[in-house]
Amino acid sequence: MDQYYSREITCDNCNHAYNTIKIKSRFIRPLTHDTDFCSTYHSEETNPLLYYVSVCPQCGYAVTDEFSNKLTAESHSAIRTKIQKHWQYKDYGMIRSVNTAINAYKLAIYSGIIKKEAAVVMAGLYLRLAWIYRTVEKNATQEKRFLKLAVEQFELSYSTGDFEDKAMSEIKLLYLIGDIHSRLGNERQAIRYFQLVIQHKKKEKEKLLVDKARDRWYEIRAASKLQATS
Ligand SMILES: [Zn+2]
Repeated sequence: MDQYYSREITCDNCNHAYNTIKIKSRFIRPLTHDTDFCSTYHSEETNPLLYYVSVCPQCGYAVTDEFSNKLTAESHSAIRTKIQKHWQYKDYGMIRSVNTAINAYKLAIYSGIIKKEAAVVMAGLYLRLAWIYRTVEKNATQEKRFLKLAVEQFELSYSTGDFEDKAMSEIKLLYLIGDIHSRLGNERQAIRYFQLVIQHKKKEKEKLLVDKARDRWYEIRAASKLQATS
């Protein structure tokens, strides 16, 4: 069990200190990368996606490292009445099956909604859950369901600008929105967002992503032309 380490977290809701498991970075060796930055891993035992969420065993409030620590009085009381009150002690701080990991994501999504976490953080949760459905569960229906939720939140983040406080550049955000739309079959939207990347005023700073967007833009255009002529 060399690949795991335990990290102590203090719950922002009930102040309980608990342990959550993470995978040591030197054991994280992605096998493949998708265009939306989804990676596949050798096994569930070394898949960091399964350990992205931490769940407080005492009250059920679940977070990721991207969650802000501050709770307003209003969200604090909402967490207490909507999560804590119905929670029965359960420890997520051990090696997780895929199902347990998916449950942890759903708890974090619910916690984030109740807390009113930033859209870009919610999008990150939905996107990673979609990745688990794509790469581990191989469930395309569930993958699409969560990709759709992810793109809605990324678009909301683009319009409110909340990504600026997080480790997310505008170009990466626009690229991801374009990529997810193309995966959902929304070609027109995908083209629109890839164009925003290609014409972005900071395009010189993130050349790799801009090139990727340009490639994707050509691919989609070529595919739709092919469809139109057949
Ligand atoms: Zn707690």
